[in-house]
Amino acid sequence: MSKNFYDVLGVSPQASADELKKAYRKLAQKYHPDRNPGDAEAERKFKEISAAYQVLSDPQRRASYDQMGHSAFEQGMESGGFSGSSGFGDFSSIFDEIFSSFTSGASGHRAPEKGGDIFLQLSLSLEEAFSGVEKTVQFPSYVACGTCGGNGCEKGKSPVTCSSCQGRGEVLMGNSFFTVRQTCPKCRGEGQIIVNPCKSCKGTGRTRQEKSLDIKIPAGIDDGDQVRMAGEGDAALRGGHRGDLYIKISVKPHELFERKRSDLFMKYPLSISQAALGGRIEIPTIDGGQVSLDLKEGVQFGQRFPIKDKGMPVVGRSSRGTLYVAAEVYVPLNLTDKQKELLRAFEEEEGNKTPEAEGFFSKIKAFFKNL
Ligand SMILES: [Zn+2]
Ligand SMILES: [Zn+2]
Repeated sequence: MSKNFYDVLGVSPQASADELKKAYRKLAQKYHPDRNPGDAEAERKFKEISAAYQVLSDPQRRASYDQMGHSAFEQGMESGGFSGSSGFGDFSSIFDEIFSSFTSGASGHRAPEKGGDIFLQLSLSLEEAFSGVEKTVQFPSYVACGTCGGNGCEKGKSPVTCSSCQGRGEVLMGNSFFTVRQTCPKCRGEGQIIVNPCKSCKGTGRTRQEKSLDIKIPAGIDDGDQVRMAGEGDAALRGGHRGDLYIKISVKPHELFERKRSDLFMKYPLSISQAALGGRIEIPTIDGGQVSLDLKEGVQFGQRFPIKDKGMPVVGRSSRGTLYVAAEVYVPLNLTDKQKELLRAFEEEEGNKTPEAEGFFSKIKAFFKNL
């Protein structure tokens, strides 16, 4: 038969909630398995006070306990239900509440934690994005400890199976009349304990180092794209999976080309006579070559000429986008006397007879008439 819960916590049956909490905190700190490794008696005490506090810290359960007495309470627990209480959570919630430093997450054996992901930025020129490129990146990351090989133990030693949970990572807590499954507080769910921690990594199994990595950027990569390199992130604590490396790409603006996905856009300046008379122009392309474009007579400002397959590649495909050349017609400045003379002769010949001008001037006439 187990002891009365009040006696277990060393308080009077009239103790306030605050006094109960203080008493539990003091005892739990004293007997916590982390502070008494390998001490079975301390562990038993710890379970006992935790079970007592779990009941007495709940006002409803405490009232039932006071009313029915300890032995009746024990029998009630054994037969399954007790005063409509909906089960007993696990002790971790008590620890979380009282000692935030003991937070242990969900109970049960934990999957080995994955190492952290690393995020880097990489800036490329448009030419590099076009052809694809190999870059060396350097960044600090956690790597497996070279001294212990990542297991966190002193040279020649290995972790030992946790004696509290026999490697299961969880323990059954409680006393003779009820049990609760909980993350093993001794090994924190890992199932293993490092008795002689490695001095280089202090038992964590990893150290921080500057890492250098060659990465291959595929042709056609776009601004804002992300390259993921599985397993190139941080090493995990003691043997879990490595994290991943993510490289966010930014592509620098280009002097000649603007990009929209796989298409490129370029503005090409034309003189008035070129635009009016047409002719052949040479267009530079992103691959370093050039293509000829034959302009017909009468190119208008902003008119666009698509050149197929001279845009950017699409990642993983052999096709390329389109290069659009937009005509920008410039009015000449600082004319010579000869040029002025020619333009005046041209003006006389033209006589404001272009269809656009005619339409415009008839609109002006209509505008003044209606005033
Ligand atoms: Zn080490
Ligand atoms: Zn354990």
